[in-house]
Amino acid sequence: MDAPRKMERAEPESEPGPVQTVTVLYLAGMPRTGSTILGELLDRVPDVIHAGELVAFWRRYTQRELCSCGKPLPDCEFWSSVVSEAFGELPPGRAELFAEQERRFVGPKALRLLYSTRRAAGSAAARELFRERNRLYAAVSRVSGSSWIVDASTDPEFAACAAALGTAAIDIVHIVRDPRGVAFSWGKQVSSDSEPRDLPRLRADATAVQWMMRNLFVATVVRRLANRYVRVRYEDLVAAPELSLRRVAVAAGLPVPDPRAAVEDLAREPEGHHRISGNPGVRRRGNAVRFALDEEWKVGLSARDRLTVTALCAPLMTRYGYRLRTVRERKTR
Ligand SMILES: [Zn+2]
Repeated sequence: MDAPRKMERAEPESEPGPVQTVTVLYLAGMPRTGSTILGELLDRVPDVIHAGELVAFWRRYTQRELCSCGKPLPDCEFWSSVVSEAFGELPPGRAELFAEQERRFVGPKALRLLYSTRRAAGSAAARELFRERNRLYAAVSRVSGSSWIVDASTDPEFAACAAALGTAAIDIVHIVRDPRGVAFSWGKQVSSDSEPRDLPRLRADATAVQWMMRNLFVATVVRRLANRYVRVRYEDLVAAPELSLRRVAVAAGLPVPDPRAAVEDLAREPEGHHRISGNPGVRRRGNAVRFALDEEWKVGLSARDRLTVTALCAPLMTRYGYRLRTVRERKTR
């Protein structure tokens, strides 16, 4: 595998001191697959910060969503320092403009931009957005004092655009979970602790189609564009977190001096907890992360949804080592 490309330090370039570099560990895949837990585990490694989901940073910033520290993003000491480190004092309307640009690179519509590089307007807008994103990543690195940033956005199209444009050193950690567990999670009502609304919900068949499309896209297109790539299963992460951490470390060239200490550290409240979005049950400040396999779907997912999801996702389920036939457990258990 090629040696990792490191992103050059962002502006101001004339600032004295050694040149600092940053590598982004981008967690890609379907949301609700354990990305927040993996982000927290990586955060306990020295020189790594888990920033949360940066893909819609400016939308969340302009809508004053809550950081995991409990403050609206523009009032949080960490994120306000990051913004001023990256851009100085933002002129009125700049954050809204960034948010508008950002919307074009989230979800499937980003593919049109990715594959229409001959359209000058699209590619210029993309370059501008990812120049901004580089400055943001570099400022997160400087303010936190960490060379490695975990971006748990999961959105694969955004990662593909960033990697294709070569504006950041993107290492992809592809996280997968049994699609029946993912479908059950997307069907539940869960209130957000960062936005004044519930998390979005999806029907089981729609979740299954997205699970297939996203994972195929990550495993093919994003993998080829990325700096480095490694796949982690949620079920393995929860069963043996130390092993999963070692696997990511080896693939990404991330120095992890003591994987066991990183796992043990999850039981303690971290200092300076400033995550953007993420699983409300995991990201909450002071909520020590516990590794417990969430298999509620084995009881709660209906037989019909289980069959639909398995039929739609079978090709990749087999590839990822998930059994197609499982016994539905009784609700009384
Ligand atoms: Zn904060």
